[in-house]
Amino acid sequence: MPNTTQQDYYETLGVKNDATEDEIRKAYRELAHKYHPDKTGGDQAAEEKLKEINAAYNVLKNAGKRKEYDQQRAFGTMQGFGGFDFSGASAGGGDFADIFSSLFGGGAQAQAYAAARPGRNLQARLKVSLKDAVSGTSKTLRIRRDELCPDCKGSGAAPGTSLITCPDCGGAGHTNSRGNGMFQMRQTCPRCRGAGEAVASPCPKCSGSGHTRARREIAVTIPPGVDEGTRLRIAGEGEAGYHGGPRGDLYVQIEMEKDPFFVREGRNLICEVPITFATAALGAKITVPILDGVAKVKVQPGTQNGTLLRMRGMGLPSLSGASRGDEIVKVLVEVPKKLTRDQVKLLKDFDGQLPASSHSLREKFGKLLAKLRSTS
Ligand SMILES: [Zn+2]
Ligand SMILES: [Zn+2]
Repeated sequence: MPNTTQQDYYETLGVKNDATEDEIRKAYRELAHKYHPDKTGGDQAAEEKLKEINAAYNVLKNAGKRKEYDQQRAFGTMQGFGGFDFSGASAGGGDFADIFSSLFGGGAQAQAYAAARPGRNLQARLKVSLKDAVSGTSKTLRIRRDELCPDCKGSGAAPGTSLITCPDCGGAGHTNSRGNGMFQMRQTCPRCRGAGEAVASPCPKCSGSGHTRARREIAVTIPPGVDEGTRLRIAGEGEAGYHGGPRGDLYVQIEMEKDPFFVREGRNLICEVPITFATAALGAKITVPILDGVAKVKVQPGTQNGTLLRMRGMGLPSLSGASRGDEIVKVLVEVPKKLTRDQVKLLKDFDGQLPASSHSLREKFGKLLAKLRSTS
């Protein structure tokens, strides 16, 4: 009896997918008994139900039919089809190729040859100085990339020859193969890449690829505010496309050159400035580097090593145009390494004349040390 509803035979019988023959028979007997007209008094719905039960049992009781149904069921589930008229197609095992091809929409027409594909994107690195990163600049980048072959203009066909129907796929753009048993696999034709047309005689210059390598110089505009790792996209400067497809893009990764003076910290610039011991003690106006030149900054008498001097608004501008950061001068007091005998004498005399209070840290430290000695 043909069953055209979208019923699941296992569900109909209330058994698991891996039910044994005995379990199936037992389930069937119980259901057949329950829905028998003698029991239901000729109820219409019960009669329909009994038909479904019989249909399900007719398939599942037969190992061969059950196997085919299982495969079909797996396929139906995969494709979102709940069921199908199995009993009509089962005779002789059946050839499912027709069903498959109709489900897949038959042999799809080959795409036009203009299976245009965009070219690949390219990556490049560019080193920029701090100054250029801050104010923006333009630079020339030298790269090698795929260009359309000048001889065949990218078609891959030898000049004067034309395209033929792809001999590998007969113009379909894909090849079919039977996997293990049921499943038919469709693959894009590797020769024509789905286009259905192929080159009869390849262009000698590019061996039919349609592309040749070339060196190019690209002008890169670097906007102000870039930093280490900033990625700039330059549209349409990647590899040439295929069959009229657009060029890929060029991505430029910014690398910062090490600056001789500055370390960047957000919008602030840190600059270490060495001064002499005498300058630190006496104070002075010293010259320090700034982003676009030099400036004077005042060192107070008695300035300690590591003192930070803040120069407001001398740092980096923000991308949004808000207030600039600061330049922070870190003072390094450099102790002389080589002294003449006279200098040593002078320094010793000088040191001997100093009261303990002129070195407040040292004085505090000395007192703590004395305490430690008296207790140990
Ligand atoms: Zn060519
Ligand atoms: Zn092909």
